[in-house]
Amino acid sequence: MEFTWTEEQQTLRKEAREFARAAVEKHGWHADSWINGYSKEFAREMGEKGWIGLTWPAEYGGGGRPAIDRLIIGEELIAAGAPLAAMWFADRQMGPALITFGREDQQAEFLPNMLTGETTWCIGMSEPNSGSDLASLVTSARREGDEFVINGQKIWTSFGALADYCYLICRTSSEGPPHAGISEVIVPMDSDGIEVRTIKDMTTNRHFTEVFFTDVRVPVHNLVGIEGNAFKQTMRQLEHERGGIDRLVSNQAIYQMAVERADRSDPLIRQEIAALESAYRIGRILVIREVLQQAPSGFSAATKCFCTEHEWRVAQFVARVLGPEATLWNETTKAIAYAPGYTIMGGTSNVMRNILGERVLGLPREPR
Ligand SMILES: Cc1cc2nc3c(=O)[nH]c(=O)nc-3n(C[C@H](O)[C@H](O)[C@H](O)COP(=O)(O)OP(=O)(O)OC[C@H]3O[C@@H](n4cnc5c(N)ncnc54)[C@H](O)[C@@H]3O)c2cc1C
Repeated sequence: MEFTWTEEQQTLRKEAREFARAAVEKHGWHADSWINGYSKEFAREMGEKGWIGLTWPAEYGGGGRPAIDRLIIGEELIAAGAPLAAMWFADRQMGPALITFGREDQQAEFLPNMLTGETTWCIGMSEPNSGSDLASLVTSARREGDEFVINGQKIWTSFGALADYCYLICRTSSEGPPHAGISEVIVPMDSDGIEVRTIKDMTTNRHFTEVFFTDVRVPVHNLVGIEGNAFKQTMRQLEHERGGIDRLVSNQAIYQMAVERADRSDPLIRQEIAALESAYRIGRILVIREVLQQAPSGFSAATKCFCTEHEWRVAQFVARVLGPEATLWNETTKAIAYAPGYTIMGGTSNVMRNILGERVLGLPREPR
């Protein structure tokens, strides 16, 4: 096993660091920048550079580059606070989902505008009474001729107010067990019958929305993959979502600032820094294993749990170092206050531990 970066990888890292520095200078610094830093202009710049769809196969317009290159670029851009949110979901999830499960005409219709950073996508998964237990979702898409008629409500839909498309997980049948009858449908966000209400979270961020669907009509043509088979498709996508570098590096910028401010002659602080530095490196090895597809199936749950709990500990460290200053209302305070979200979004740590126990380690299932 070789743990050093190749010369090309080091060159790429330098280039990404430089690009990130320029982006922050131009578009401002954003804490948790892959979810809180929204700039369409920067998304277009990423597209021009060929850094959206970097790893997608060339026949779909992607860069066909190794997954490790995307990890390096992502690590540098997020650590620096460059605003990635306008293209991140499309690049990380929706593009790969369409490449894997979509039809050729859907790939031709949607991938090019993702690659140029032109379209923003949101994910309509969670509902008021259905979060961890996705199989309990009730938003319905009923077939009427060659259209689906959609009714229901989603919540915590990041960028619902800004997105061009929603990748909607909905129920197309209520027959059989709950996880059967769920489908994935692409819904243009300017469709009649969609109402979006923005939610301001406690950090004053406004990416969350509630999305209400009342008799929204979309062509059956917009179904992705097999009708009623979305549960499996969605689980596959969540593997992309959970095992990436974005789960480890979100608050690296405030960490660097705190390390510089900390009293590094204090042995307790030194121990804390050593523990965080070690955890970061372990987390990165876990992520590398995920992106190289060397981790066991389902293990991204453990990777996500480990990495996001590290991010949470980073936030606590920053708060301790800043002391009362951490209560001043600035970008760092917001980043600290945002930290509980890391271990919730994309599946909570409790649920990740269940997956690890039941699916990876084969322990007995929790009693229902
Ligand atoms: C920053 C952020 C961004 C998000 N973006 C999106 C988005 O773009 N689109 C989208 O659809 N959703 C999004 N979400 C929602 C997210 O996916 C859900 O919050 C998450 O899946 C948890 O669901 P819930 O909030 O309904 O909590 P619940 O499922 O109600 O869980 C409540 C508590 O019960 C625990 N719990 C639940 N089930 C079990 C179990 N079986 N065993 C042990 N403990 C359990 C959980 O760990 C948690 O502590 C986002 C969330 C955050 C924080």
